[in-house]
Amino acid sequence: QVRRRAESWTGPGRTRDGHPVAVLANVQDGAGARAAASSAAEGVGLFRTELAFLDRDTEPTVEEQAAIYREVFDAFAGRKVVVRTLDAGSDKPLKFAGPTDEPNPALGVRGYRIAAEHPEMLARQLDAIAAAARESTASVLVMAPMIATVAEAAEFATAVRARDLVPGVMVEVPSAALLADRLLEHVDFLSLGTNDLTQYTMAADRLSASLAALSDPWQPAVLGLVARTAADGARAGKPVGVCGEAAADPLLACVLAGFGVTSLSMAATAVAATGSALSGADLAQCRRAAEAALGGADPQSARARAAQILQG
Ligand code: PEP
Ligand code: MG
Repeated sequence: QVRRRAESWTGPGRTRDGHPVAVLANVQDGAGARAAASSAAEGVGLFRTELAFLDRDTEPTVEEQAAIYREVFDAFAGRKVVVRTLDAGSDKPLKFAGPTDEPNPALGVRGYRIAAEHPEMLARQLDAIAAAARESTASVLVMAPMIATVAEAAEFATAVRARDLVPGVMVEVPSAALLADRLLEHVDFLSLGTNDLTQYTMAADRLSASLAALSDPWQPAVLGLVARTAADGARAGKPVGVCGEAAADPLLACVLAGFGVTSLSMAATAVAATGSALSGADLAQCRRAAEAALGGADPQSARARAAQILQG
């Protein structure tokens, strides 16, 4: 019955009592965006641009990049698309960006740190995004991965606004979660990347199967950072979304809504189940579940406490 309800869910994302929480898709290229556009996703919450260039030996030209971005924007014409600038390095190595011989790549020059070292590469990517956005009716926002300091957010926001685009940053390093209120003085939105936020909060490699128990977004420390970031967003009156795998866990999606997260972005295949789960819970119930989960001693008890409130 749960599956049948999910299959018929058509959006938009709302709790049972009508509180909006946008349900968005994660995409990586035009084909994926077209597939996602036929789901009930209201837009794209994370366009992983680096994944479109994994097979390139050299940096694509501005024109080549713009053509790929345009495909994604056209698939979501009239809707919101959040483009992430290149998140190269560590688990997503690009041949043309970043060092390859670091002893500890997850803690190395990756994500925005490469852009900071090579501002001209970031400038070319932003030019390509701006050019594609000008020719499309999609509402385009741009965010940077792996932001760790206020200065990085400020610098990125300046570069994005110079091209008439809307800047945001990902919160996937604990320092960014702890500084969320100050990041929000510079950018228009935040997006929690719970995959890396969990990895860096728990000091547990996200690719290590033997550390799976630590790499769990239900870990109370991770939930605490998410709650705090969402609360800072609410105080600033700015959106805070989640675009990590956590958003695709229907129970956790309700908890995230309870923390005040304003959008959830996930693989297109998870959109219906998540949207349907949200539509089955009232906001007050989500808030109680969020509070209860935060008080859990470990992921199992956090999950059980939330389930008791949301599933009775
Ligand atoms: C994340 O870290 O949660 C995220 C959404 O980015 P990626 O999985 O691409 O690192
Ligand atoms: Mg990440």
